[in-house]
Amino acid sequence: MAVLSYLHQLLNVDQCQAYIHTLRWQDRPLQCPRCQSYHVGPWGTYHYQPGLQRYRCKAKGCKRTFNDLTGTLLDGSKRSLPHWILATFLLCLSCSSRRIARELGVHGRTSYRWCWWLRNTAVSYETDRQLEGTVEADELYHIAGHKGQARQGGPKLLGRRPRCRRKQCEPGRGHYDKDRPAIIAWVSRQGAVVIQATKDFTVKTVQKAADLAVQAGSRLYTDSASSYRAVKGYMHEFVNHTKKEYARGDGHENRAECLFSLLKPYLRVFRGLSKCNLPGYVGFFQFLRNVRQQNACEQAELILRAALDPVIASRARRGEFVRCLDHFDLLQTAIN
Ligand SMILES: [Zn+2]
Repeated sequence: MAVLSYLHQLLNVDQCQAYIHTLRWQDRPLQCPRCQSYHVGPWGTYHYQPGLQRYRCKAKGCKRTFNDLTGTLLDGSKRSLPHWILATFLLCLSCSSRRIARELGVHGRTSYRWCWWLRNTAVSYETDRQLEGTVEADELYHIAGHKGQARQGGPKLLGRRPRCRRKQCEPGRGHYDKDRPAIIAWVSRQGAVVIQATKDFTVKTVQKAADLAVQAGSRLYTDSASSYRAVKGYMHEFVNHTKKEYARGDGHENRAECLFSLLKPYLRVFRGLSKCNLPGYVGFFQFLRNVRQQNACEQAELILRAALDPVIASRARRGEFVRCLDHFDLLQTAIN
């Protein structure tokens, strides 16, 4: 029997409270989250969460109490702040929700819910990202089925036999209906990336994806796939892989292919994906790539800072930041 089973038992609760207080109010003065009044004062503490300071709004007609977590993603949680901080940290180290449940000592469903809330919060940094300059693009087809989609639990009503030893890859292009949706990566030579999960890889989809991800007039390097060749609005060059041409002068897409060599092991951790969760996973990986210069602790702080914003928190709980576009027809991340 180990003396200490969980790392969060070493964290100081008061220090965590002070940290969360600083994160929430660092760029704005302490104010009432309901009527936005600055006329507030301390008002005791709570029994169920030691260390959590309670405040009372002194404005006329409000007089309600609140704390540092009111309206945020962490509001109403029965678990302590050390649990949340450690969960966010582990998520940035690309742990699965089952792994986090084990390391934290919480139920698997709790950590699954937290993980998706936190991933959706992280994606809020990525919604308006558009690349410029020289951009490389490449596509990948990833197997994604109906994992966890059974409504009543037990055997899944899929309308087909279970695959047992996973889906075998057929040659040719994948498609959403064939359980192999496409993932398109746009990699700027300046370092930023945009990754999109799409239903198919037609000219129309690629054009829409390019319009969203890359600024018009940028230089685009791709392979010789016909969908890329039809894309308009960019200075476009391509290398012909069928003729064993992988680079022509400055024109190559090795960064995009390298990105997939990082994305594949990241996704493998989850041991199979559902296709409606694919945009969420891909979006979070995009966030991790775009803040890769920072360590996991700083990345976790970015996520927590967004989670403590009531507007972002309520949208993240509903999964609104994950790209859900009609032409992609990918289902939104469904939580609860
Ligand atoms: Zn008030």
